[in-house]
Amino acid sequence: MEVLRVSNLVKRFEGVVAVNNVSFSVEKGEVVGIIGPNGSGKTTLLNLISGLIRPDDGKVYIKGEAVDPKPHEIALRGVGRTFQIPKLFHTMTVLENMLVPVVEGEDKGKKAEELLKFFELYHLKDELAGNLSGGQQKLLEIARVMMLDPSILLMDEPFAGVHHKIVRRIVDHIKKLRGEKTFLIVSHDMHTIFGLCDRMLVMNEGKVLAEGTPEEIRRSKEIIKIYLGV
Ligand code: ADP
Repeated sequence: MEVLRVSNLVKRFEGVVAVNNVSFSVEKGEVVGIIGPNGSGKTTLLNLISGLIRPDDGKVYIKGEAVDPKPHEIALRGVGRTFQIPKLFHTMTVLENMLVPVVEGEDKGKKAEELLKFFELYHLKDELAGNLSGGQQKLLEIARVMMLDPSILLMDEPFAGVHHKIVRRIVDHIKKLRGEKTFLIVSHDMHTIFGLCDRMLVMNEGKVLAEGTPEEIRRSKEIIKIYLGV
């Protein structure tokens, strides 16, 4: 079942076509990786899908329905997002950060504690988020987005600047959740992303240059050309 489709998305910034007519679709439960050189439009694409910016052209469909590109609308349809630099409240505790997305009056304390256990952060629940390591902050942001029970997760560089042990943990969590949840992951960590994804999109200069299984992408001469410049 198709859960996400982007159709002919275009985003221009003065003089730059950051996303240039991008179309693809994602099936329920897939883990899809997005790779490409710096400036190829990966973050802009995630921003368009999560409604943080409006496209100049094209549409995003979630579970078959065209969506109004507004963050609130898109979150309500089950799309969660994590950022390259986690957007946490550093002077709040780990547990308090978990409760930020909670609507007033809801009792989500138990859910927050369960998620902290799942992400192996429970022992840090009363620590200030600002005191966590970079990797733990990334884990906390993933745990926090789960409070909203998203069915589709957009992740921007979840492994960048993260200790290899925590990379392993994030990968294990994604593997546990795959099938049930759908992931779209932007990453420069080739080793991790090739080992994790069912399918990859390769972006270059705002376009999807190639799409395929990690094996197919690994064999592609065009991609080798982009990365190695040969
Ligand atoms: P990537 O995530 O692949 O590194 P980005 O999506 O961040 O690429 O950027 C794609 C292109 O769009 C780059 O040329 C970048 O400079 C430009 N760009 C991104 N965001 C903005 C912005 N807010 N204003 C102007 N240009 C931008």
